[in-house]
Amino acid sequence: MNQIFEATIGLEVHIQLNTKSKIFCSCPNGYFDAPNKAIDVICCGYPGTLPVLNKEVIGKSIMLGIALNCEINKKSKFDRKHYFYPDSPKGYQITQQKHPILLNGDITLKNGKKIRIHHIHLEEDAGKNLHIGNHSTYTDFNRAGSPLLEMVTCPDMTSSEEVKEFLKKFHSIITALNISSGDMESGALRVDGNVSIKEKSGQILGTKCEIKNVNSFKFLGDAIDFEIGRQSALLQKGEKIIQQTRSWDTKKGETFLIRDKEMVGDYRYLPEPDLPSIIITEEQIEEIRKNMPLLPDQVIKNLIDDYNISLYEAEILYNDPDLCEYFRETYKIHQSNTTIQWILREIIMASKELKTSPLTLPFTPTHLAEMIIFLDEKKISQKIAQNIIKECMKSGEMPKKYIERTGFFMVEINDDQLRVIIKRVIESLPQAIAEYKKGKIKIKGVFVGKVLAETKGNGDPKKIEAIVEEELASS
Ligand code: MN
Repeated sequence: MNQIFEATIGLEVHIQLNTKSKIFCSCPNGYFDAPNKAIDVICCGYPGTLPVLNKEVIGKSIMLGIALNCEINKKSKFDRKHYFYPDSPKGYQITQQKHPILLNGDITLKNGKKIRIHHIHLEEDAGKNLHIGNHSTYTDFNRAGSPLLEMVTCPDMTSSEEVKEFLKKFHSIITALNISSGDMESGALRVDGNVSIKEKSGQILGTKCEIKNVNSFKFLGDAIDFEIGRQSALLQKGEKIIQQTRSWDTKKGETFLIRDKEMVGDYRYLPEPDLPSIIITEEQIEEIRKNMPLLPDQVIKNLIDDYNISLYEAEILYNDPDLCEYFRETYKIHQSNTTIQWILREIIMASKELKTSPLTLPFTPTHLAEMIIFLDEKKISQKIAQNIIKECMKSGEMPKKYIERTGFFMVEINDDQLRVIIKRVIESLPQAIAEYKKGKIKIKGVFVGKVLAETKGNGDPKKIEAIVEEELASS
């Protein structure tokens, strides 16, 4: 992005709620291996049938509203959005246009910037058309009538980085609340991005293009970057942006036109006469608030406070529940400030190498805690600890047994003994002494390294360095 132009990005995000049944009928809601297994007269749009709202949908919507600081609409209504498409058997979609269930709200980014949410409304999903061969289209209504929440943000984001951070946070919230699988590949989370470019000093938003059907946060970020570049280039050439819907070609790495503005339909919205308004009471909201799972921000804050770890470390643990469990278990047995470092280095590495969850590693939290006790009591060195993990990871042997068997105890070296070794090492390297005297201070690392090797990792590096300096000064 250059100095003259600035991007404005807003999102429309659909999430499929993981309720047991569909939004307006009792058909199961979810995935099925064969088409048209979860259908009835209501979701297939038979004339004369009446929709009945699934209560579970309301509870999950309220939870999301609380989590995103939304205003929960005490009286919201359904509308019909008319369009014809074979996977939408009624000829209209039941949605909320004028009175959505949730209003306003926001998500705060790490730098403190608030991304505003315009509203979140309820609607039903459509079925799926399967195009087979050149001449046949089959329609599967399993997904027709699945409950969706559609979130519309304000155009508050200015880069693909902000979009990705926003979406990651949103994703962690919906999965923490367990209201949706949040899985993009199966379509449980669908994101459309509206990108426009305006002059930096200007107030008026530019003409937007919508990016649709992108199925990962990374590809969406790439598509947004491409779109910002494409639109800026057009404006620089003095050309106009035409309002379009575009998609992302992963192979070519560019967005391409799906349709332009002339094809935007007139949906002839009208109030849905077959469904009563949704009435939500303050008591209902309070009841849900009391029983809500902790939100990601709160869990991360608790990790930081309970274990005295950094935000960065807490986020890694939060994003890997098995690793977090491994950490908690280890810490429960032996409380040490060094535990987190072993978890984030050796345990992550081992679980990647062995392609298994930390919780199923042969080196368990009990092993790690036992090893850290030896370390904290200064009975073994760091180097030996690493060796223990490597060896016990293979055999499952307990660190205590391993240490006793191999005799790899740290040998207590007193200062006098250390000084003798240091003197010997210094004398053996006259060349290095000369360079040190010429001002090449860094060369003292060579002495320290050699001393550590001679003590088999048993000496305290800081102490060694201090004595090396003393001895060099007097040599
Ligand atoms: Mn929608």
